Amino acid sequence: SKKIRQSLVAGNWKMNGSAALVADFNEKLKTVQCDANIVVCSPSTLFHHFSADAFSLGAQNVSHLDNGAHTGELSLEMIKDAGCSYAIVGHSERREDQQESNDLVASKAKKCVEAGVTPIICVGESLEIREAGNVEQFVGEQLDALTSTLSVEELSKSVIAYEPIWAIGTGKTATPEQAQEVHEFIRGYFNKVDADLALKLPILYGGSVKPDNAQTLFSQKDVDGGLIGGASLKAEDFISICQAA
Ligand code: PGA
Repeated sequence: SKKIRQSLVAGNWKMNGSAALVADFNEKLKTVQCDANIVVCSPSTLFHHFSADAFSLGAQNVSHLDNGAHTGELSLEMIKDAGCSYAIVGHSERREDQQESNDLVASKAKKCVEAGVTPIICVGESLEIREAGNVEQFVGEQLDALTSTLSVEELSKSVIAYEPIWAIGTGKTATPEQAQEVHEFIRGYFNKVDADLALKLPILYGGSVKPDNAQTLFSQKDVDGGLIGGASLKAEDFISICQAA
């Protein structure tokens, strides 16, 4: 195919799922044929139920701190010990619910790379920001925090997920053109930092990706796969999205 970059599809189960759902995924994904790398980011209570050969395991969040007196947190050491090789950082729900700042998100991403875990770093604007015409400024600021905290080498071990907040869980997918426009902006931003980094950096799209719209989104030049919420909770839907990448 035309792709220079390995496609990646990551499921984000959010605060959903059960041991029974993991068993279903273990069974149904075992024999799946697809070119994309597959990641499932489940709640941490479920990590040990996975017998993942056909896919990698990811956390939905991780602390930027080391093991110690931080009640309720999970460290990189812990998620790695539980089998995770990816971690989502800076999801918009955490930026909102836990007031995670651009700088905190960047620290978490750096800590992931240092630990050998691939961070899936989420960026993306609200509807208000889009309607005010400030998408590039807003996303640019989210990226500024990354480039001032992570080296080019560290960024080259990261994944970016562009998730317009207005498209998350709303059924309002960005059009392929809207997605491509921002993905191109993001790649262009990194191109000013380092051309090779920009060429190799996987940029995922997230926000109401479903089996019937995945293919056109993933066929955009700068869209290297997806971060999938709702549709990652059904093995059949998730598999068909993985196969579209
Ligand atoms: P959604 O969620 O696919 O349910 O819109 C995507 C995400 O929040 O990662």
